[in-house]
Amino acid sequence: KQTIFSGVQPSGKLTLGNYLGAIRNFPLLQEDYNCIYCVVDMHAITVRQDPAALRRQTLEVLAQYIACGLDPEKSVLFIQSHVPAHAELAWVLNCFTMFGEASRMTQFKDKSAKHSDNVNVGLFTYPVLMAADILLYQTNIVPVGVDQSQHIEICRDIANRFNGVFPDTFTIPEGRYPKAGEGAKIMSLSDPEKKMSKSDENENGYILLMDQPDVIMRKFKRAVTDSDARIVMDPQGKPGISNLLQIYALATGKTVAEAEAEFAGKGYGEFKPAVGEVVVELLRPIREKTEDLLRNKDYLQQVYTEGAQKASYLARKTLDKVYRKLGFVKR
Ligand code: ATP
Ligand code: MG
Repeated sequence: KQTIFSGVQPSGKLTLGNYLGAIRNFPLLQEDYNCIYCVVDMHAITVRQDPAALRRQTLEVLAQYIACGLDPEKSVLFIQSHVPAHAELAWVLNCFTMFGEASRMTQFKDKSAKHSDNVNVGLFTYPVLMAADILLYQTNIVPVGVDQSQHIEICRDIANRFNGVFPDTFTIPEGRYPKAGEGAKIMSLSDPEKKMSKSDENENGYILLMDQPDVIMRKFKRAVTDSDARIVMDPQGKPGISNLLQIYALATGKTVAEAEAEFAGKGYGEFKPAVGEVVVELLRPIREKTEDLLRNKDYLQQVYTEGAQKASYLARKTLDKVYRKLGFVKR
């Protein structure tokens, strides 16, 4: 069986973009692969987090993994900071990553512009920690949104460089992205030129999986569109409407063409609430299941404790091999 690894940061509450772009695909994979899904709290602290919120959000992401269909009996679910091998391998890989290549990462440029008061070195080496996450498990496939493709490429480059010096150390992973038109990139509702992000300061830009129905309806009614009245797919000319059509199609399982036909001749005043309604129904069971799980902290603790044990065992095997090859004295 091949190995799958992916992670989500507890840097906020999960959005519809995280769900349609990544998490929705996770449960489909757990029958045929060894699946490892992590809540990457160490990545989240590359920007300032409120400690109480971080703790709450970490458990919430774990609960939402399960609510979205991941089964702790089939997949390894754990919290990154519980497996110290991530930090240990990241240090080694820092020494196999070139300053120049790390400097080309667009996520670093975007996030350091956004957090200009805190451009820390952790934000810069974020992709190296991500490479460690992936390579520790000899991962074959990394299902992520297309916004992460540059980080997957640098991970492959780092792994190839290390293998060039110390052959047969790491499996070279591949990114697996949603097909264009299948949740590849869900855009912000308030600024459809930008991707929907859970760390957006404008809460009208994102739909949270935990948003109540009235909040979801309000955000869709306020979604930025354009002054033309046609409901057609045209990502360049009509980014707002195209994003809503994409969301509608994904939430209903219809094709974009079917969605266009359904709304032909209708106005935005009818279209926007219709998108809201299908998203309310899509998210309702996930929200209810998450609420149930969050009432059962003992169960969540059992899941992440067992997950960390399984992950630690696998991670240690790779880290021991790396340390031996590097010439570190066996402890
Ligand atoms: P942050 O703003 O803190 O970076 P985020 O919303 O980008 O948060 P991440 O934890 O960085 O969330 O990413 C989790 C997963 O969700 C990744 O696989 C990422 O590619 C995917 N993802 C994030 N935003 C979107 C989006 N707008 N559309 C599709 N996929 C997305
Ligand atoms: Mg992100």
